[in-house]
Amino acid sequence: MGILDEDVARVRESTDIVGLVAQYTQLKRVGQRWSGLCPFHAEKTASFSVNDTEGLYHCFGCKASGDAITFVREIEHLDFVGAVELLAARSGITLRYSDREEHEGRRRQARLLDLVDRAAEWYHDRLRTSPDAGAARHYLRSRGFTSDEVVRYRLGWAPDDWDQLVRALWAAPEDVEAAGLGFTNRAGRQQDFFRGRVLFPIDDERGRVIGFGGRKLPGAEGAKYQNSRDNVLYNKSRALYGLDRAKGGIVHANEVVVCEGYTDVIGFDRAGVERAVATCGTALTEDHIRSLKRFSRRIVLAYDADEAGQAAAERVYAWEQAHEISVFVVDLPEGADPDELARTGPGLLESAVAEARPFLSFRIERVMRAADLETPEGRARAADAALGVVAEHPDALVRDQYVMDLADRCRVPADQMRARLEQVRLAPRPAPTDTPTRRREESGSASPTVGRLPELADGVESEALRLRIHHPEVAGGVLDASMFRHPIAVAAYRALDEWGSPAEAVDHVGPEVAATVARLSVEPLEVDPADVLARFVSEVGRRTLGDLEAEARGSSDPLAFVEVISWLKVTLDHLRRPNVDVETLTELVAFIRSESGHPGDGEPGDDDSDPSSGSSAPPPGAGELG
Ligand code: ZN
Repeated sequence: MGILDEDVARVRESTDIVGLVAQYTQLKRVGQRWSGLCPFHAEKTASFSVNDTEGLYHCFGCKASGDAITFVREIEHLDFVGAVELLAARSGITLRYSDREEHEGRRRQARLLDLVDRAAEWYHDRLRTSPDAGAARHYLRSRGFTSDEVVRYRLGWAPDDWDQLVRALWAAPEDVEAAGLGFTNRAGRQQDFFRGRVLFPIDDERGRVIGFGGRKLPGAEGAKYQNSRDNVLYNKSRALYGLDRAKGGIVHANEVVVCEGYTDVIGFDRAGVERAVATCGTALTEDHIRSLKRFSRRIVLAYDADEAGQAAAERVYAWEQAHEISVFVVDLPEGADPDELARTGPGLLESAVAEARPFLSFRIERVMRAADLETPEGRARAADAALGVVAEHPDALVRDQYVMDLADRCRVPADQMRARLEQVRLAPRPAPTDTPTRRREESGSASPTVGRLPELADGVESEALRLRIHHPEVAGGVLDASMFRHPIAVAAYRALDEWGSPAEAVDHVGPEVAATVARLSVEPLEVDPADVLARFVSEVGRRTLGDLEAEARGSSDPLAFVEVISWLKVTLDHLRRPNVDVETLTELVAFIRSESGHPGDGEPGDDDSDPSSGSSAPPPGAGELG
């Protein structure tokens, strides 16, 4: 039984959070917020803050935070419905429950699931019996698929035609579309979504088909993989291919293997590693982690996790802390993907998984393997490079373990290594003319975001977020999530854009991001909003300048960059002066957006991402943090 969303919103709006909290602790007005002793932990000085405009609270001591509903849940030990009911009674609101709506929604979902299941059966039947599927069958045989496997994984064939499936389904066009099986073309006729592809049905964790991954045949036109688009049943940031089948194996082995392709999962099964799942054309997201950790907290990545570089590292460490999981990486032979390995040496695949290394260890080995440990200079360089990777880990004890090991291997005294590590960790952001981040990552040296996890430290990014929260009219339309770098800031900004108010945003993000939004919304912005905006945009501009200069240095035609670089320098100089004019700022923002190659929040390309190529991880889409 659920309460209607609009009634929940009504309760939230009509609750005076200051009055509510004041029943449990005394609050005093301090500037724009209210402050008092935290009702959730024992303390002598007030570290509990309430923002009554946003309806949020945050404790700087025990980190308790949330809105009025969370407050009642925590303090009265109630569940969500109970807390809303209590608050509703307090405000004299009569709640309506969503029985009927839920009922309708469930019926529709059952209808769509049934439709997708019928489609899976129809495709499967085509693959096995239809003359036009000859090439598909030949392809699968050449990739080592037996007919048993075709049945077990319920593989299918989508004929290279216009509307054979939609005609065979004989269902309401709006249902066919909602289920992602067809669409209406420009001529107003309904057409099949998948054409000329071998289909891998994607199940939810209860074993119900929710979507498909479609692979083209060798030599055919188009992207190698085409997946179902997100719809009411299928969400690519949540879907995990093979989870239903692998659940038992995962729990039994207390380990889950994550790969990038449908055929990789099947390859692992063949090699006897029956605990593999694949993301469906997207990088691993926090939602995936949430779903996997219910089965095992040991997560083994069987793809090139290093390719995604430092951004991936930040996410992995943040997840390890927030979700109490451990991430390992399988060291696959250069250029080999699990699917191939399963065919050439199934034993190798199994032992590679058994020897998976902790994420940090894997990254250090990458650096050490490329190093020359024969000469003193080579060892010093290797030590420096490896420390850059170690420095990213948020836990001091873990860092120290690796430092001692590296000291041995590089023959540098451990104390000297420790001192160097601290230097690396405290290194300031590189000056604009310095080598840009990408280069620094490759050489493994200090990165500018070192040591800022899991919290978003005070700085231009948190100021800019605070600006977005307290002065949306100033930040909105000028800033966007792609201008931020810290994964928490990116996720927070996105959530604020998507959900509008901080209170709504907090309800839809992970605990770390929620705590950050709550904290920033109880801390008033104590400086001129225009200054914050100018400072942040300048910072992003300087970063862009650094990238451009590096690009120029590496280019065969560096002169081509002169004009744009000098324009950018002049503009940045201009922004240093007081009373920046809005036009300069807007111009710079437009330029940064065009340079970053992130034209808005476009779909990260269902159609051209290729989940089967084990050699390249998808780009570290910052939005994946969830
Ligand atoms: Zn507290």
